[in-house]
Amino acid sequence: VAGASPKGAPGTIVIARVASLLPGFGSRAGLMTAKSKVVVVGSFNVDHVWSTDMLPRPGETLAGRYRSGPGGKGFNQAVAAARSGATTAFVCALGDDAGGRLARELAEGDGIALHAQSSSQPTGTAGIYVDADGRNSIVIGPGANAALSPAHVRAQDAAFVGAGVVLAQLESPVDAVLEAFTVARRHGASALLNPAPADAVVTPELWALADLTTPNETEFCMQLKRLGADADPVTLASQPDDALHALCRQLLPHGTVVITLGAAGCFVSHPAGDLRGDTAPCYRQPAPQVDAIDTTGAGDAFNGALAAALASAPGQPFAAHVRRAVDYAALSTERHGAAEAMPRMHELAERFP
Ligand code: ATP
Repeated sequence: VAGASPKGAPGTIVIARVASLLPGFGSRAGLMTAKSKVVVVGSFNVDHVWSTDMLPRPGETLAGRYRSGPGGKGFNQAVAAARSGATTAFVCALGDDAGGRLARELAEGDGIALHAQSSSQPTGTAGIYVDADGRNSIVIGPGANAALSPAHVRAQDAAFVGAGVVLAQLESPVDAVLEAFTVARRHGASALLNPAPADAVVTPELWALADLTTPNETEFCMQLKRLGADADPVTLASQPDDALHALCRQLLPHGTVVITLGAAGCFVSHPAGDLRGDTAPCYRQPAPQVDAIDTTGAGDAFNGALAAALASAPGQPFAAHVRRAVDYAALSTERHGAAEAMPRMHELAERFP
């Protein structure tokens, strides 16, 4: 739950040559050295988190350890992109309150250029329960996030100049995201749609502007259902690759689909004719084995890292970006929290040399 167009072979050859000259470039964790730009459009929440042995059932009262920290899919993804080495701008809406001030302070700390619309609504909040196995249940109070307007996004045009990837999720109004992807197209940036949360309605206009999409299993099945197709999130990952590929082609016929599969990593499906430097139209990327203690924001870690990798080295095969995003997200599950759990580049390099 709570929780971002490279093209073709010619660029691959050039980057491969450069890679041999740059220490660390092309290694599993050190893929990026060039600075790149990612614009994230989305939500900021103050997360209120209770860690309990098990998730509370209806009518049940449990005692748990409490902490609060920054979150919201948009902010988590922006922090992941910035800590992955991308120059990052974050377009959002904030209340005039302690949460809004926290967002400004933290964005500055991570070097993220904040383009915040001021709202009379309170800054967004989330109530999160995490059990002993790292599973979570989340309730969102959208607050200011629901006020993000297309006009504000349009007014931030300068922030999109030089962007390689524009990454958005749907904790913000769909018309604001549509505007972001319209601006992305004007600036020649790839539009990466993370169709989360699962109950978000993605309009045909928004699908049409998305170059890539990154649903988790539940989001994938929910969005397919809206398009009149059928898939079961429980059995999805065990389906044969060609069946999954066919479903992905229904969801986004013209673009790349990456289904994140939790501890199993992810499944990648490209449209015929645009394999993004890969050799296969579909494949799985397993996740490394980690000691997951909190998966909150794992999907956001994946999206931010993928956007940063894509923007930094568009000529690299897509599989290299996906491997990096899977490693990055896996590492984020070994720490508590959402935005705070996003690894830094040197930590990724140390953990997965
Ligand atoms: P969340 O809602 O918890 O933020 P999500 O449901 O959107 O996550 P997932 O598919 O659960 O997304 O996870 C995203 C990525 O995080 C996976 O593709 C994988 O790389 C990594 N990941 C998640 N859980 C684990 C785990 N237990 N072990 C290793 N990697 C994991």
